[in-house]
Amino acid sequence: MRRTDIAIVGGGLAGSLAAVMLGRAGADVTLIDPHEIYPPDFRCEKLDGSQIAILHKTGLAPAVFKVASPDDEIVTARAGKIIDRRPHNQCGILYDNLVNTVRREIPANVAVIAGKVTEIANGPDRQSLTLADGETLSARLVVLATGLNIGLRHMLGIEREILSASHSVSVGFDVSPVGQSRFPFRALTCYPQSIADRMAYMSMFPIQSGTRANLFLYRDMADPLLRALRTAPHEALLSLMPELERVTGPFQVSGFVKIRPVDLCRMRNPLCDGVVLVGDAFATSCPAAGTGTNKVLTDIERLCNTHIPHWLLSPGMDSAKIKAFYDDPTKIETDAQSEAKAFFLRSLSTDPGLIWEARRQIRRIGHAAVGALRRARTKVKHAAGPVGEIRAAQENLIAVAPSLDVSAVPGNIGTMPDLNAAQAQTSLREQARS
Ligand SMILES: Cc1cc2nc3c(=O)[nH]c(=O)nc-3n(C[C@H](O)[C@H](O)[C@H](O)COP(=O)(O)OP(=O)(O)OC[C@H]3O[C@@H](n4cnc5c(N)ncnc54)[C@H](O)[C@@H]3O)c2cc1C
Repeated sequence: MRRTDIAIVGGGLAGSLAAVMLGRAGADVTLIDPHEIYPPDFRCEKLDGSQIAILHKTGLAPAVFKVASPDDEIVTARAGKIIDRRPHNQCGILYDNLVNTVRREIPANVAVIAGKVTEIANGPDRQSLTLADGETLSARLVVLATGLNIGLRHMLGIEREILSASHSVSVGFDVSPVGQSRFPFRALTCYPQSIADRMAYMSMFPIQSGTRANLFLYRDMADPLLRALRTAPHEALLSLMPELERVTGPFQVSGFVKIRPVDLCRMRNPLCDGVVLVGDAFATSCPAAGTGTNKVLTDIERLCNTHIPHWLLSPGMDSAKIKAFYDDPTKIETDAQSEAKAFFLRSLSTDPGLIWEARRQIRRIGHAAVGALRRARTKVKHAAGPVGEIRAAQENLIAVAPSLDVSAVPGNIGTMPDLNAAQAQTSLREQARS
């Protein structure tokens, strides 16, 4: 039987990142995953500013930036009209490329086994693992990073609670311009016109040498639109967003259209001796809210920088130690925000109630006002007019900023590619001041 201090089961983003961080810290680690090279899989395909900030804390940012496609400006559009063009900080990267890049950083002191764990017997001191080929392993701690695979969690008596079945549907595909050498933007977010579209938004962004699109919908898998997106994607997209080509210019969809429904779920009773759950194995997220990677990065950063080093200092690995990770305030806050954003965005996109209609109006006004003010600001900056004109413009901005009523909108919806009214107001004030 092999012996190790930490057995990481699952080498997706969470497990691979943990292997790098713990290996770099000199821990005795073994990573087990069936795939030597992570296969192509439709998952997170871009990292936003908040995710990049956490990635810096893991020490993996430089390696990821070498292979990612950055974009620093995003255009937002609705009903065929550009409403804003703002600076932003995002990079596109296919999930397998992201995971394999992280895996290449795993130091030589980490043992990597290509195999599937079929059994875990846990206890307060040591855990024993059995692989599909019969090999066995003894570890002080198991980091369970098996994503959506529920087999091992069942074996440990951990139950899954489904918060929202088929919460959203994610659609991913490649797009390329037709009759023009490039799209008239680097990144684009298109919002729906009405709740009848049952759509959160569509984003287009550079990835490797092309452009990738992610469309997030709230539809039943039997919905004819989903079938049409597979068989005639260009026509299906124009039926959903008839004026899209006014913003993008003529385009075509190339390659296979990937469509995935996502259930929102979390573990009801994750606490047990010797095993800690991370990433999707602990709780899933809604891709439309774009919080899954924040959760993974936060889990691994907190676990590897703070909790595991502390746990290894004393003998044993009972549930009292593990509890400290599930009670970590940063983890709790990140998970709670992820869940709240998933439900907020779905209601904002589909709920017919008066309050939600008011919130949508506020969002539309916020988007339009911020866009208009940004354009005005650019003009003022470029005009060589007298200082007095600039002062007048500043005063105008300050006068407009507080007039948006944001009381109906919850504060932080963070990483959504979407300015809510509170952000809009802050942004207006910032622009006015600058
Ligand atoms: C369609 C889609 C789009 C998404 N888009 C976004 C987005 O835009 N932004 C965002 O932030 N998040 C997004 N997410 C969420 C994000 O991709 C996930 O939260 C993240 O990938 C989870 O990583 P993980 O390491 O926990 O799981 P995974 O990447 O699924 O890794 C699990 C690993 O465990 C291994 N494994 C499973 N069982 C065993 C076993 N018995 N033994 C050994 N190994 C095992 C698997 O082979 C796999 O390698 C999206 C998710 C989906 C599904």
